[in-house]
Parts: sequence; C-alpha cells; structure tokens
Amino acid sequence: MTQRTPIIGGNWKMNTGLESGMNLASCVVDGVRECVSCDVVVYPPLPFLQAIESVVGTSAVSLGSQNLWHEESGAFTGEVSASMLNELGVASVLVGHSERRHVFGESEEQIAAKVVSGLRQGLQVVLCIGETLDERESGETLNVVLSQLTSGLSGVEPPQMKTIVIAYEPVWAIGTGKTATPQDAQEVHAVIRSSIGTMYDSNIAQQTRIQYGGSVKPENAADLFACDDIDGALVGGASLSADSFVAIVKATQHS
Ligand code: PEP
Repeated sequence: MTQRTPIIGGNWKMNTGLESGMNLASCVVDGVRECVSCDVVVYPPLPFLQAIESVVGTSAVSLGSQNLWHEESGAFTGEVSASMLNELGVASVLVGHSERRHVFGESEEQIAAKVVSGLRQGLQVVLCIGETLDERESGETLNVVLSQLTSGLSGVEPPQMKTIVIAYEPVWAIGTGKTATPQDAQEVHAVIRSSIGTMYDSNIAQQTRIQYGGSVKPENAADLFACDDIDGALVGGASLSADSFVAIVKATQHS
C-alpha cells in the first residue's frame, strides 16, 4: 500500500431490513472505531439512508448511495437525484456498478452523466468498471476496462479527480466466490493508474484511489491490499456481516 488512504466500501445491495440494517451499521461503527487510517463507507438500500445516517452520524463511517439519477428533478419516476442524496447526508455514490450496467442496461452516456451530476453536488463518486468473463477469456480485459474508464471520466476536470474513486470489479468475480489473484488484480490496477496519468497527469494518477471488488473476504483481503496499486475494496456479500466487514477494514492496517 502507498501513502494513499485506503477506502473500504460496503455495498449492501438490496439486502437488510430497516432494523437489521441499523444494527449492522451500529456494529460497523463500533468495530472500526480504532481504524483511523482507513476511510469506511456503507451503501445501504435507498429507503434506509436516513435511518442509517442517524446511526453513522458523526462517526468515522460515511454514508453512501448505491445509485443516483443525473437530472436534478422532474418526471423521473422512481429515481433519486444527487441533491436529494446530499440533503440526507450522503457523502459517496456508486456509479456504473456492474449490476446497474448488466441487469439494468445503463449506458456509458448515462454513467458519464451520473458521474458529473454526483460531482456537481460535492459527492465522492466511485466509478465502477470491470470486464465480463467472456471479455476476459477473449483477451479484452484491458480494452474494456480502459474504455469504461475513459468514458466514465469524460466529463471530469482535473481538480475534480480528488473526489473520484475507481472501483475495479471484474464482473465474473462479483458475488461468485471467485476472486482475481492479487497479481491479476494488481496488473489491471497498474494499467488503470497509468491511464489516469495519461488522461490527467502523474500526480493525479498517484493520488487517485483504486479499489478492488469481487468476492473480497477477510481471508483474501490482506494479500490484495499488499499490492502497490490496490487501495482498498468495494465489498458486497461480506459487508452484510459486521465481523467480516470490520475484519476487511482491519486488513488494511497491516498492508
Ligand atoms: C460488489 O457488489 O461490488 C461486490 C464486489 O460484491 P461481492 O463482494 O459479493 O463479490
């Protein structure tokens, strides 16, 4: 790990109930109290954001949203804008998660617009990118990942890069129990960083945090975090257990 502060996100997806979510958030707050050198974010289901905010409050755990819509207001039934998230105390938003891309068919144009909209409201934007199994097996991993990166960042000005986090999440590793080896993940992270250097400059590339996501658990976290260009993790399944999630956060302290 370098001098970049690691960041661990817990993407709860469409899981937990109101009470179980509040309990989970409370246990995470307690569990990470001593972990001062790591940013921790939880991404609960949208209807529970306000309740979870009352739990994480001024603790070291930040509140995140799994999604947003890029327009400010209007006839967009079922959607939520960046300014609405802002009012609820949301600090971070996931954009372009593989389930949004592949289950809900979000386009590159929508993803780029969402990135800009989140930044405009001062939210930290976590841009998720990653290849499918077919793309990996046909040798397309870097082409796919770099094309998603370039497109997702197309509206981002250099000073705004400090509020961007990249999450490299190979689709075939999400929720499958299969994790990229630390070497495979590091290779892609290094190429992402170098491309950010080409798109912006080497300082911005060195400062940008790149999380790994895909079946991260306490057993594999430390090996991933020991890689030079891996700055933490976006965690799905293992974030639903406070013990597992806190153990992953603590694994950043030894890297
Ligand atoms: C995710 O949802 O971003 C994710 C990485 O899920 P999991 O950890 O369950 O693979």
